[in-house]
Amino acid sequence: MSPLLTQLQRSSPTCLSSATCISVAIFSHHQMSTNARSVASRLSSSGFIRTQGFIGGKWVDAYDGKTIEVYNPATGEVITNVACMGGRETKDAITSAHNTFLSWSKLTAAERSRCLRKWFDLIMANKEELGQLMTLEQGKPLDEAMGEVTYGASYIEFYAEEAKRVYGDIIPAALPDRRLFVMKQPVGVVGAITPWNFPLAMITRKVAPALACGCTVVIKPSELTPLTALAAAELSIQAGIPPGAVNVVMGSASDIGEALLASPQVRKITFTGSTTVGKKLMAGAAETVKKVSLELGGNAPCIIFDDADLDVALKGTMATKFRNSGQTCVCANRILVQEGIYDKFSIAFSKAVESMKVGDGFVEGVAQGPIINDSALHKVESFVQDAISKGAKVLIGGKRHSLGMTFYEPTVIGDVKSEMLLAREEVFGPVAPLMKFKTEEEAIHIANDTNAGLAAYMFTTSIKRSWRVSEALEYGLVGINEGQISTEVAPFGGMKQSGLGREGSKYGMDEYLEIKYVCLGNMS
Ligand code: ADP
Repeated sequence: MSPLLTQLQRSSPTCLSSATCISVAIFSHHQMSTNARSVASRLSSSGFIRTQGFIGGKWVDAYDGKTIEVYNPATGEVITNVACMGGRETKDAITSAHNTFLSWSKLTAAERSRCLRKWFDLIMANKEELGQLMTLEQGKPLDEAMGEVTYGASYIEFYAEEAKRVYGDIIPAALPDRRLFVMKQPVGVVGAITPWNFPLAMITRKVAPALACGCTVVIKPSELTPLTALAAAELSIQAGIPPGAVNVVMGSASDIGEALLASPQVRKITFTGSTTVGKKLMAGAAETVKKVSLELGGNAPCIIFDDADLDVALKGTMATKFRNSGQTCVCANRILVQEGIYDKFSIAFSKAVESMKVGDGFVEGVAQGPIINDSALHKVESFVQDAISKGAKVLIGGKRHSLGMTFYEPTVIGDVKSEMLLAREEVFGPVAPLMKFKTEEEAIHIANDTNAGLAAYMFTTSIKRSWRVSEALEYGLVGINEGQISTEVAPFGGMKQSGLGREGSKYGMDEYLEIKYVCLGNMS
């Protein structure tokens, strides 16, 4: 096995001594695709690629000098090595966030709003560079990456405005000599733990409302995609957000997580990622009774009724299934198709899927990039094998792509049944399982027959059915005749084991606020 492949086999990042990293980087340099290599060197020379953690407004190495490699999943090459931090650095980041909280929370809402607005402007001004950085470390096609920059920035713009609308209440008192008030105050230091699939947006969705409320944050981005987070942190300083308000530590996830959970100064944990880790964090937060928001895994049903407009259903299903190579928690995971339209839909859908261009996200016209790493690829392969062994049929794709690496063919699997892994768990890859159903009641039953409850989609031209089914679905988000529904102005979050709390919209502010009741007595 080549050394390059050995590197790729590693599914989760491990800290390395500097010497090991340098040799890998030299080896990899020769292998890197020309486009990605020139982008990386341009971003590096313009100071866009940061490799240190960010604590108290200073760029710092890991205290023991350890580093961790960041890969380009399209080429397998090491882009750079970043600091591999742990508990000690996290404690210092918390202290710095806590000290800054005392001043940041005392600013007027208008002052905080101006800083956020400037941060939004700077992110938009650097959209291309941030998009390139994201494609480099995450693999998604460049257009999609730039779309995420705009989407991620939209949360900062929205919460810059929302900062000024943290209203309280005056409550009519039960006794004549009393006056009752409710005020909302920032919760304090926030620990924000984010995944690799949306390297910018999952951060801004948390950090923008936190800062708007007057909180300060310690961000732990995924070790697979820390570069976008670090670049965004640099822009936050340029925007005038004070040192210590935004801190970034990455490295040992468990050590950083433990330090965040153990600290009584951290008053809130906000997390996007797997249900397994989310449950651990929720349990760990109990010790110091922190506020918790969790955005966990989904198992989204996408229901195509007989009365759907076929073109709308095709377009919407393609959008919800294949964005980000199927690696989003709101991706359609089960496509339920009513028997009257099943054949027509599956033929047209397979044709559309077959035409998707797969490749390096920097290549023009590419619609699907690589899967993030080898372990994610194995998961996809094992789910497809499980389905085939239980009688499902591969309509299109069904295997690794000839490009090699972690590329997988856009895939459609027919005759999927409830007992198959593809129907029970999130595949998190470019595989569309089709399941046939007869009645609306059956579709609702199948859709709700899961512990997850994040996003659901339906395609129908009946307004009555739209309401009826929306009300019956046990999901936090419902898309009707639309496959991409996330927006900063609407609440995003799950029911059941898909999570707690909401991100985006006016509701997203509540996650970072305490409600305080004040009673003024003896007023007569
Ligand atoms: P995914 O499978 O999408 O990578 P994870 O839940 O494993 O989802 O990761 C999401 C984020 O949670 C990442 O930043 C990861 O490093 C972090 N993480 C993983 N394990 C822990 C842990 N024990 N404590 C804190 N953070 C963790």
